[in-house]
Amino acid sequence: MMEPLPLAPATDVLIVGGGPAGLYAAFYAALRGVSVRLIEARPELGGQLSALYPDRRVYDVPAAPNAYADQLVAQLVRQLTPFAVDVRLGELVTALEPDGAGWVVGTDHQRYPAGAVILAAGLGALRPRPAPEPGMHTDWPQPGEHRGQRVWVQGGVPQATQAALQLHQQGAQVTLSHRRALFRGTPRQLEALEQARRAGGLQVVAAAAPDWQPPEPQDARYFLNSYLPDLTPLQEWPLGWQGEYVPAGPDGQTRLPGVYVAGDLSSAGADFKLISVAFAQAALCANHAVYHVRPELKVRPGHSSDRRLSYPD
Ligand SMILES: Cc1cc2nc3c(=O)[nH]c(=O)nc-3n(C[C@H](O)[C@H](O)[C@H](O)COP(=O)(O)OP(=O)(O)OC[C@H]3O[C@@H](n4cnc5c(N)ncnc54)[C@H](O)[C@@H]3O)c2cc1C
Repeated sequence: MMEPLPLAPATDVLIVGGGPAGLYAAFYAALRGVSVRLIEARPELGGQLSALYPDRRVYDVPAAPNAYADQLVAQLVRQLTPFAVDVRLGELVTALEPDGAGWVVGTDHQRYPAGAVILAAGLGALRPRPAPEPGMHTDWPQPGEHRGQRVWVQGGVPQATQAALQLHQQGAQVTLSHRRALFRGTPRQLEALEQARRAGGLQVVAAAAPDWQPPEPQDARYFLNSYLPDLTPLQEWPLGWQGEYVPAGPDGQTRLPGVYVAGDLSSAGADFKLISVAFAQAALCANHAVYHVRPELKVRPGHSSDRRLSYPD
């Protein structure tokens, strides 16, 4: 018989997904003074913004016009810094079981008890496109993983540019190739790539023929070619799914008591898959989730401007 996965200490609120909805829900729940855990399948936070378009400018987020998507993610993460939110990266949420008045959320690593759960899973877990050959890495290198090794990174997406730079900075001998002429990345990343190329430390091959290969044998190969959303780990949950959406009441609560939904996954915003809509739904869900676990805290958050929080400069 298989050993059950370890049970982590409980938190008041658990959030599934680290995109804009999940990050802002984590902020709001933590601001209200409850304990918060956030679980994200990818090795980094930011949801679609960091996975699909970190290098694009976004114009319609309130009070942050003209920001690159990766800057918006950095600000959302910065907004969390006064709080001790327990962030678990690289864990895929697959199970939800009732547990007394609350829930136990299961991942591929652990089981996490929580008083309330906020589903902020967007279009689904953003999983790397499969590699064409076995043995190729398809997501982020671990820091220092290939120091001193020869590494071939294939792909033109921003993650390929960033991975090549990161590996190069950590002492790997890197070749970056792409079958198209252009590599994507923020201006800062593309400038760093060009500098590393000119200095001779990083080989960059654009418009590579399909059968092109770097000359010497490689110690590791990365195939970074964007991400595909996968809702299947959640779709067996009895949430009354409407296609790819989870319906909810005006407080964001699903048909399961203490389970809330915000952002692209919620049927409430279906025609408006927007960051600003995700933020509003996250604030509502977080405050109702807090009230669900700690009724003495009330639903209404009051004004944050009445508070004193400490942020690093
Ligand atoms: C190319 C592009 C450009 C866009 N431009 C704009 C724009 O200009 N303005 C705008 O307002 N919106 C824009 N959007 C839409 C915007 O990105 C989404 O509305 C927003 O990301 C929704 O946030 P979310 O947190 O609900 O979901 P997501 O950003 O999808 O985040 C959900 C997170 O949950 C994780 N997750 C899902 N399932 C699991 C699981 N089972 N276990 C663990 N983790 C899980 C995913 O990996 C993901 O990181 C754009 C979208 C795209 C694709």
